[in-house]
Amino acid sequence: MSEKMLKFTRIDQQSPLKRKVEKRVDDFKEVYEEFINKKAQEQSSRCSQCGIPFCQIHCPLHNNIPDWLKLAAEGRLQEASQLAHSTNNMPEVCGRICPQDRLCEGNCVIEQSGHGTVTIGSIEKYITDTAWEKGWIKAIKVEKELDQSVAIIGGGPAGLACAEELRKLGYKVTIYDRYDRPGGLLIYGIPNFKLEKFVVERRTNLLKDSGIKFQQNVEVGKDISLDNLKEKHDAVLIATGVYKPREVNLPGRNLSNIFPAMEFLTASNRKGLGDKVKEFENGTLNAQNKNVVVIGGGDTAMDCVRTAIRQNAKSVKCLYRRDKENMPGSLREVNNAEEEGIEFIWLSNPKKFMGSEKVSSLLVEKMKLGAADSSGRKKPEVIENSDFEIKADIVIKALGFDPEDLPRLFNHQNLLVSNWGTIKINTKSMETNIQGVFAAGDIVRGASLVVWAIRDGRDAATSIKKYLEVKKLQNIKAA
Ligand SMILES: Cc1cc2nc3c(=O)[nH]c(=O)nc-3n(C[C@H](O)[C@H](O)[C@H](O)COP(=O)(O)OP(=O)(O)OC[C@H]3O[C@@H](n4cnc5c(N)ncnc54)[C@H](O)[C@@H]3O)c2cc1C
Ligand code: SF4
Repeated sequence: MSEKMLKFTRIDQQSPLKRKVEKRVDDFKEVYEEFINKKAQEQSSRCSQCGIPFCQIHCPLHNNIPDWLKLAAEGRLQEASQLAHSTNNMPEVCGRICPQDRLCEGNCVIEQSGHGTVTIGSIEKYITDTAWEKGWIKAIKVEKELDQSVAIIGGGPAGLACAEELRKLGYKVTIYDRYDRPGGLLIYGIPNFKLEKFVVERRTNLLKDSGIKFQQNVEVGKDISLDNLKEKHDAVLIATGVYKPREVNLPGRNLSNIFPAMEFLTASNRKGLGDKVKEFENGTLNAQNKNVVVIGGGDTAMDCVRTAIRQNAKSVKCLYRRDKENMPGSLREVNNAEEEGIEFIWLSNPKKFMGSEKVSSLLVEKMKLGAADSSGRKKPEVIENSDFEIKADIVIKALGFDPEDLPRLFNHQNLLVSNWGTIKINTKSMETNIQGVFAAGDIVRGASLVVWAIRDGRDAATSIKKYLEVKKLQNIKAA
């Protein structure tokens, strides 16, 4: 039973009305669960168990998909869940938000033969949600705690996955995070309609129960230095993600009611989590009854348009300078947004924000696609004298993210970064150029995916373990 349903059935035991409602909920639950079980089993048994599992190869975690599909088809869900957890720290999260059309499902042999993919993501979610409901997922019990400790900077999926893997091995782990809640973009970036917040909190609570320490509201570089962490712990992982929004430097950019995507999404997520959000209550970051324009064509832009429509915006338009075929985001997300009534203005580029104090409209120019550039994508070119105006009460900029200047923030100018500002690591050991300091997730890859962050976190844990074992031996020899 879902947690929402559990809450609903926990109302006053004495009331006859409550008993009636409960019975109806139970009847519904039974029919619904039977339906879902049947659907999941039907889908799982569609897997042809082909010799070369392309789905598994194209899953960044190389999940043993054919085997857990077989177990699910046979109704052996506990074993399926154990298998899913052996390669993934949050299968229920990936099942919900991986762009499966580009990963496992896009490479399913049945999909390739034109018969529609096995719905791998939904089954992964179903297996793990069932395991949570049945109480099969338990906190880690460390038999003998080791005397070495690891500091993890950032409690997003990369940091959480690394923490869990190290804790399983018995290490002491502390996560330092500047947000007030753990989860990183899982909690404040990705909207609730894609990833319910109780799903994230359930996981982070389990990690707390496993003995991992969480230090929230601690910004490394401000409240504590990287050097302090190196002194206090035996190894450090940097998993800080990428948060610097890319800007649109156009005339009128200082008008009010123009916001970066994360400001808009964080306010909405905080509201959903039950926080008091002044900027939402006073209407500043609430799209209700407003003409909303979102600039950008990636997944973050799709999350913004779909959040705005759920806040009862008057109209929601998405401006993108290429066409639908050349959008960077998942096609499935674009289709979802179109179905929900979002208007896409393809081949359009904002030229000027207009208004006196607040933005009231945008001047936009039309584009056409020219020859392909070095990346193979067709380059957008301006169509002369094609300007037009669109009304806007609120504009959201969703043009992607860059890394913050970590060498400066951490006061470690010698920390090596790439030309894009991402941290340089030894790709085999995941260690930075500072001994004992490792890095994983978006801060290494640039803005990427949850499943890749989990993969990096797990790989980092393997390397940190090796590093700590060598360090221990060296200490023993030196003593
Ligand atoms: C709006 C949005 C929607 C997305 N949707 C999807 C999706 O549907 N599917 C998908 O697979 N991916 C999605 N992504 C991408 C995905 O969320 C990221 O790739 C993933 O979260 C990266 O994980 P991470 O652990 O590297 O970093 P993050 O999740 O960003 O976590 C980093 C953590 O580090 C903390 N931190 C940063 N600096 C410091 C500091 N100095 N001191 C202490 N703590 C610090 C932050 O507070 C944060 O908690 C989306 C991203 C965005 C922005
Ligand atoms: S983790 Fe993502 S890519 Fe891998 S099987 Fe699950 S949904 Fe597919």
